[in-house]
Amino acid sequence: MASCYFCTQNVEPSYKEYEALKKFLSYRGKIVSSEKSRVCALHQRKLARAIKQARQMALLPYVVYEE
Ligand SMILES: [Zn+2]
Repeated sequence: MASCYFCTQNVEPSYKEYEALKKFLSYRGKIVSSEKSRVCALHQRKLARAIKQARQMALLPYVVYEE
């Protein structure tokens, strides 16, 4: 719990910080599971919402296609 990025940085996930959200996406563009990223349950929910918003605004990809 203490290792949650958003708790330790004392920030909330926001689509405006989409550069920071990128590190919670896998190389395929999927949201990394909370077990791997060690994000707490509360922030994982907020993170998912922020990533969805960022995708709708075309700031983040839905899927990353391999060459
Ligand atoms: Zn947290």
